Amino acid sequence: MTIHVLSSDVISKIAAGEVVERPSSVVKELIENSLDAGAAQVSIEVSGGGTQLIRVSDNGSGISGDEIELAFERHATSKITSESDIEGISSLGFRGEALPTIASVADVSVLTKYRDEMTGTAIRLENGVLINKASQGCPQGTTINVKNLFQNVPARLKFLKSASTESGHISQTVAQYSLAFPEVKFTLVMNGRTSLRSPGNGSLRDALVEVYGLQTGQSMLEITGGDVSVSGFVSPSSVSRSNRNYLSFFVNRRWVQSKALNFAVEEAYQNMLMTGKHPIVALNISLPSGEIDVNVHPAKREIKFRNEREVFTAVQKAVRETLVGFSPVPSMRISSSLSASPAPTSIPFPSTGGLQSANTELPVLQPYHRTEPSAQLPILRVIGQLQNSYVLGEGPDGMYIIDQHAAHERVRFEKIRREQEMRSVEVQGLLEPISIDLTAQQSELINSEGKLLTETGFTLEQFGERTFLLRAVPTVLKQQDVIPVLTEILDFLEDGQRSEWQERIAASLACHGAIKAGQALDQREMEELLRQLEGTASPRTCPHGRPTVIHLSSAHLEREFGR
Ligand code: ADP
Ligand code: MG
Repeated sequence: MTIHVLSSDVISKIAAGEVVERPSSVVKELIENSLDAGAAQVSIEVSGGGTQLIRVSDNGSGISGDEIELAFERHATSKITSESDIEGISSLGFRGEALPTIASVADVSVLTKYRDEMTGTAIRLENGVLINKASQGCPQGTTINVKNLFQNVPARLKFLKSASTESGHISQTVAQYSLAFPEVKFTLVMNGRTSLRSPGNGSLRDALVEVYGLQTGQSMLEITGGDVSVSGFVSPSSVSRSNRNYLSFFVNRRWVQSKALNFAVEEAYQNMLMTGKHPIVALNISLPSGEIDVNVHPAKREIKFRNEREVFTAVQKAVRETLVGFSPVPSMRISSSLSASPAPTSIPFPSTGGLQSANTELPVLQPYHRTEPSAQLPILRVIGQLQNSYVLGEGPDGMYIIDQHAAHERVRFEKIRREQEMRSVEVQGLLEPISIDLTAQQSELINSEGKLLTETGFTLEQFGERTFLLRAVPTVLKQQDVIPVLTEILDFLEDGQRSEWQERIAASLACHGAIKAGQALDQREMEELLRQLEGTASPRTCPHGRPTVIHLSSAHLEREFGR
């Protein structure tokens, strides 16, 4: 093949792949334009996961009738003129790429009225080419309609996920901007239903309440003290989620994704959350604009910090101090190494801060490993209970220490799996339905994945925009565990974790509602637990792979006592 310069059409489609990866990227770019135009209200309407329609309306400055075509020219922007402007940038956009790019992969129409003009302008483009322009009256501001997204780029269309997944990304995007700009009123209408309506009163807590529901929003702790450059809210250790989608960072009001910041926060929560659990945070970081480079990612999703270490430390410190100030001795802490000292600087991710970690106090013992071939347990005689957490048993070859929570989890897990496989999950109707408030994204999931949830034993009925009535739950759950389990399941779904889906749910159901550490058991209960554990297929590990049993063999005892 000879070398040749690509046609502008091909160039724009290649560029589109970077800027407009999926429907939520269009929503992001249009929201950013509205915010840059000083809008106090931004309404987003979406159908078909964004491929049918994305409409973003704002009451910002509007675009002048003379300039509207220019807005769709590549590299046309009103936001910078020289390279040096990028460094001190305060607008979200600056490349002049979004509108031409979107217009190259969708049918776009615009209705806008500039604040200083008497009348508005309507234009329509197809394949990036202007096909109609007319004067049309309208209030100040801009409405952009994007239809048939990616219809002319089949390769891209193929890579899109289901409409509900794409809708989920859109909800997530709108939610993030409503947290980043609490003074702006955002409305999201998804397939004709309002799924988010932020108050726009300037209060980040109120925005959190809208996005994450009343209970979670009210439980959030405001960052206090520390460096003034970090502000916002963090969840107390009692509130957590099963994925990292709830970590929001805004640097100079720009929503950014950063592994380093995720890490700084998770470090601050070290030993406060169970393994696999993540906090909810919404943090604003303000830095002199020279301290960041915003021009490093095609979709402007990431930024570069001039001094990342310093930012990392400031964030970690602010979060840690807030958490420690709120709860000097979180109830989940057991191990003595967890003091309220300044944030630890070691690097591993928070390890099991949970109850099971207590067994590391017996390091000389070799717990049975999950891959141990002879999985069965011998018949055990109950000797007693230790620390209200472990059942001591005597077997043919020495002593067995059974973690009562882990053991009960195993028993419940296998029972639930059997029920699932036989499609006979036992369900209990609730006398009084429980009303729950969900995020826009979770509501979408319930609407699209209702069947999956029903199969797992949850019956939910839509009550308000984002309020659902829980009418039935799996019988294995105790009342107080219903909401945490449901939230966990929605987190799995939200993360697209469909593989081993039933198993994850079973593990979650098994864990909640299992006998807890610290719970006194009488002789009969302990015997019953051991009988049930003996009857399981894999009695030696809990569903998360941790040991249920530690064996102290007769030989080991003899050796230890020097016999
Ligand atoms: P950028 O945001 O990087 O400048 P865009 O392609 O997103 O590039 O937008 C091009 C220009 O169109 C902007 O610089 C702005 O002047 C104008 N514009 C786009 N959307 C709006 C809007 N909602 N309100 C007012 N002006 C807008
Ligand atoms: Mg823009």
